[in-house]
Amino acid sequence: MYQGIPASRGIGIGSICVIAEHELKYDAAKVQDVESEQKRFQDAIEKFKQETSEMAEDIRKRIGPKEAEILEGHLVMISDPSMSGEMGKMIATGQCAEASVEAVCDMFYGMFSKMDDDMMRQRASDIADIKVSLLKILLGIEDVDISSVAPGTVLVAKDLTPSMTSQIRKENVAGIITEVGGKTSHSAILARALEIPAVLSVPDITTLVKDKDTAIVDGTEGNVYINPDGDVLSQYIIKREEFIKKQAELKNFLGKETVTADGINLELFCNIGTPKDAKKAVECDGEGIGLFRSEFLFMDNNHMPSEEEQFAAYKEAAETLGGKAVIIRTLDIGGDKDIPYLNMKKEENPFLGYRAVRYCLGNRDSYKIQLRAIVRASAFGKVKIMVPLVTCVEEIREVKALVSEIKKELDAEGISYDKDIEVGCMIETASASLIADLLAKESDFFSIGTNDLTQYTMSVDRGNADVAYLYSTFQPSVLRSIKHIIECGRNAGIPVGMCGEAAADPLMIPLLISFGLTEFSVNPVLVLTARCIISKWSKAEADALAQKVMNLDTEKEIVDLLKAEAKE
Ligand code: PEP
Ligand code: MG
Repeated sequence: MYQGIPASRGIGIGSICVIAEHELKYDAAKVQDVESEQKRFQDAIEKFKQETSEMAEDIRKRIGPKEAEILEGHLVMISDPSMSGEMGKMIATGQCAEASVEAVCDMFYGMFSKMDDDMMRQRASDIADIKVSLLKILLGIEDVDISSVAPGTVLVAKDLTPSMTSQIRKENVAGIITEVGGKTSHSAILARALEIPAVLSVPDITTLVKDKDTAIVDGTEGNVYINPDGDVLSQYIIKREEFIKKQAELKNFLGKETVTADGINLELFCNIGTPKDAKKAVECDGEGIGLFRSEFLFMDNNHMPSEEEQFAAYKEAAETLGGKAVIIRTLDIGGDKDIPYLNMKKEENPFLGYRAVRYCLGNRDSYKIQLRAIVRASAFGKVKIMVPLVTCVEEIREVKALVSEIKKELDAEGISYDKDIEVGCMIETASASLIADLLAKESDFFSIGTNDLTQYTMSVDRGNADVAYLYSTFQPSVLRSIKHIIECGRNAGIPVGMCGEAAADPLMIPLLISFGLTEFSVNPVLVLTARCIISKWSKAEADALAQKVMNLDTEKEIVDLLKAEAKE
């Protein structure tokens, strides 16, 4: 068995087709006829643009607009004067078109691949994709036609570029295995959109297999089996059937309310990063947005987004949700999220440093721009403001004072907004949990951020693999904290939601029902799974389980019990 990153859920079983890498060799000698070389280069660029826009259009129709944006991004990049213009300049000095394309792309690749941010690093793979496509056009190399592989094919490649992935026909491809790429890589996004099981980053897989080998791709666990024995194969055929049955069962929850087995109505919201994701949330049947991570607007830009740019984004999300709640979290920057143009200082302890609401209150002018944009967007839907990383009462009071100031300004300017716009706290620090009773008096709602609450309660860096064994929301301390926060919110009569990953964890859901959580905010793709699990538990059953759990001493005992009593 080989292991990789589980990038698209499900079980795929089929016959391997290895997508060979072409050698992109050329003679880098100086060219004599610069003019005809420029013409050859321009023709290649035109061909690239035409092929890319055709593929984008095809993806838009077959898969969706969000996925098509990946290729549209390639068109924007290649049209940027700093790319094609630089290539043209190199050709003017006598370099051949291939060498010019390679040098400029390598320069950008080096720049993007060194960036800390995941999304920016993703740009590096876009550049690599553009380079390979352009070189193939210049060298007259034809790709394997992925669109015509036989049904039941498992594609194996070093990397699946968006241009290759765009040719995939869902009905023919049973699974995907690659040597590079992670959960957020473009091939992962496209595989998920096509619902094809995929395991990425399996070391050396292209050299370990050959065409026609049988492969099992377990995209849920990240396991790959090549030429498995009869037992493993039959085990996985059963698993595949179960998975398909489960997916069909989940479809029954589409368009339904979120209710427990004994009829308690709960809210099932989505976590999003861009206004475009709001559409996804609606398509996935989310009942609102419980967390709009506004920092992506800032990270995906090379300048601070203006009030108008932010307003347009928040308004788009509010309108997309058509009156359902949209909880916008104000800039949560710092920690592991850097924005190069803000020139934030390097810190010894970034997770304990100048970040999130601390940074925002220290940079009031820019914070006011964001708050104004959010308050203005509240005229177009049910927009709420959420403050991250609160640790003391003063912070939420200061944010509310700024919101009041903004409301006065907007009144004076005759700009409309929701006068009752709610301001809530994210409870994600140990301090906020301990003073949840005090914060509840100042807040219109709470949302528990378990990703950070676990980090700060356990004093364990959420991204450090060496201490990952301690990073669990099922630790008794974290569970006590969650229970306490929900109790404080309920005592004060404010709603308490959860937007950390734990809200969608099937093992956690009964505990949250028992503690009295009223809003679950999850990744859009997990809406139906969460709704299905919620429907299986009555309050009385959840209470009985929670009582046993809260009497246990260790995380292991807790997880073992929850697994033993889980409802599939
Ligand atoms: C959290 O901390 O649980 C959370 C939802 O926010 P983020 O993961 O963006 O820190
Ligand atoms: Mg957080």
